[in-house]
Order: sequence, then C-alpha cells, then structure tokens
Amino acid sequence: MSSLANNYNRRKISFKYGRGSFLYSTNGKKYLDFVQGIAVNSLGHANPYLVKALIKQAKKVWHVSNAFQIPEAEKLAKMLTKKTFADKIIFQNSGAEATEAAIKIARKYFFSLGKPNKNRILCIKNSFHGRTIAAIYASGSKKMTEGYGPKVPGFDHIDFRNLKPRFPNLRNKITKNTAAIMVESIMGEGGIKTIPDKCLKYLRKICNEKKILLILDEVQSGIGRSGKFFAFESSKIKPDIVPIAKGIGGGFPIGAVLMTNKVAKVMIPGSHGSTFGGNPNACAVGAEVMKQMFKPKFLNNVKKMSDYFFIKLNNLKNNYPKIIKEIRGKGLLIGIQLLVNQKKFIKLLERNNLLTIRAAENVVRILPPLNVKKNEIDQAIKIINKVCAGYN
Ligand SMILES: *Cc1c(COP(=O)(O)O)cnc(C)c1O
Repeated sequence: MSSLANNYNRRKISFKYGRGSFLYSTNGKKYLDFVQGIAVNSLGHANPYLVKALIKQAKKVWHVSNAFQIPEAEKLAKMLTKKTFADKIIFQNSGAEATEAAIKIARKYFFSLGKPNKNRILCIKNSFHGRTIAAIYASGSKKMTEGYGPKVPGFDHIDFRNLKPRFPNLRNKITKNTAAIMVESIMGEGGIKTIPDKCLKYLRKICNEKKILLILDEVQSGIGRSGKFFAFESSKIKPDIVPIAKGIGGGFPIGAVLMTNKVAKVMIPGSHGSTFGGNPNACAVGAEVMKQMFKPKFLNNVKKMSDYFFIKLNNLKNNYPKIIKEIRGKGLLIGIQLLVNQKKFIKLLERNNLLTIRAAENVVRILPPLNVKKNEIDQAIKIINKVCAGYN
C-alpha cells in the first residue's frame, strides 16, 4: 500500500534510469519516452552537459537566500533577457508559481498607476495555468475547481472557439476593470490548440488600444518546444509578461516570470518573494539548458525534426481516417486527436514501448526531447502505425 496520496492515477511502471530519448524500466523494458516529464526534459534524460553543470554547482553552494546576491541567478537572468523580449526576470520554482506571479505583477502595475480596481484577468475557458488556488480559477475549468470554493474572484473567460482573427466577443469582455489578457500561446493540457499568429497580433493590438497588459503563458510551449524559443515569436509581437517553467530546467524544478521594464519597475523590494526562487542549483542547470539551446542549429534542428514528424503523422492520419482525426501542434509539441478510445490507444503504445500522455479533446500528446534523433522519430512512427493497424 502506497503512502503517497491518491491524487494521481499512476501507471504501474517505474524506471531504473534514463538516457536521452529512452527510459529503462525496473522490469527490464526499454521505452521510447515521448513524454519527457511532460515537456520538462528538453534535452532528454541524463544529458551529460546538464549532469556536469549540476554536479559542479552542487559541490560549490546549494542554496542561499535571496537576501544575498546569487551569481547563478544573475547569469541565467542575463541569458534570458539577452535572448528574449524581456528586460527583467523573477525566479520561481514551478509553472503555477510563475503564472501566479504574472497575475500579481499585472495587478500591481495598475495599482501603482493609481487604478487599484483595474485588477481583472481575462483568460480562455478550460485553459491551463497550474493548480494553485488562483491558477485553477484562472483556468476556468470545472474539473480543476470543483470542491475548492469559494471561487477566487478576478477572472473572466472567453471561449477558444471565439478566437477568430477578429474575436467578435472579445471587446465586450474587456471592461474598465480588466488589467490583462492571459493566454497560453499553445494550449497544452487543453488539447494542443495553437493560437494562430494573426490572433496573437490581434490580442496585442487590442491590449495596446485598451492600455492593458498581455500575458502569454509559455510554461509548456516555451523554451524551444515550438521550434522557436517562444511559440509567440512567429507572430512577431512583444508580450508584457511571460511565465515560463517546464523546459528551462531540463528536469530540475524552476520557474520564472519574464517581463519588460515597464511592468518590472513596480516590483519594488518586498513586493514579491520566494525562498527557493533563484536557487543556485536550479539556475546553474537552467543556464546550461540555455547554452545548449542557443548553440548554432539547435532550434533549426527542432524545426527540421518537427517538419519530418508532422509529414509522417499526417501520412498516418490519411492511412487511418477512422482512427486519427487530426494532427495538431507546432514544433515538438504535438497532438494526435483520436476518433477512438484515448486511454486504450495510449496503453497500446505503451505496450509497444512508446510512452505518450493524454491531453483534453481526446488528444494523445507527443513530447520528444528537443534533441530527438530522426531514427527515434521513425521508431515512434512505426509503433503508432502498428497500433493503428491492429486497433479494433
Ligand atoms: C504545466 C503548466 C503550468 C503549471 O506548471 P506547474 O509546474 O505544474 O505548476 C502552467 N501553465 C501551463 C501552460 C502549463 O503547461
């Protein structure tokens, strides 16, 4: 009998070790891991560069308080501001903490302008921003909020299907009390739904017009996952605040909020904090992830592998129109929307040594490491093909 609480429906499988795209189970099986901790292990399992960076830091200093200078945090923050829209960074430990901090910053921004009532955040219904008490109400999903009342006020919602190039209902949803729009550039848990570039552009335009902030949650879609460092980059817009987490630590827990000077300047001493945020081990690993990801051709290769994967998956879709409805996503954030039972399909893939994970809307999520090899994609395609061919 496990001493862990029952809040997860865990698969009966555990691992001895992992290497790159593969996991080796305690019962002697070798799995192609296209979950990678749900888009966390951006460089695969036990990446030698990350192992080295972590051991090096662990021998120096593990933790000091944010009451002191933290050179490793300074270094990673500098790398992030150099490579992105951001001018300033606040480190956290997880995605939910990062989205919560983003909400706090947006509210504080208008408070500092003398508009304390301008504090509402407009989100997409059934999105995913994490599991803390505010983040579940931001996500606006009944499944996540049920039993956790009273409802946290301050969040309004629009439907994803209303996100047409010129969202007809968006203007009505923005009131004088709206402080920010917060959306995922690509909805991960929600079923791998990409917000088209022209919609992102329109969101930026309307935020400018209404003088409100644009928060793009890149916790899952960011850090190279889409083929660009951030998924929103293809739209050429500049957000105000971007929470990140998952991929930046390559498996080590870390989150962060990226922001422009305009909003960062309201975060004065004492306005926000975190014991572990900016932890030297986490930041040393994060800096190594950045270093590897900005080596020449790395992101180009993500795009190349993605194009290859999408062609192969769309071939499967055409060959099995009664099983596969749609191939979704961008980069190596890929969804196979099924016409058949999701749970059974994922189980069959697992039996054939390919690990995948569910998302909403009957989607099987495929999240290889960003340094996945072409022959590993071929192996996955072969397995998916076999499962489709034998499905009954
Ligand atoms: C995973 C995720 C979060 C929450 O991250 P945690 O580290 O689990 O708190 C928030 N937003 C998005 C888009 C995510 O995919």
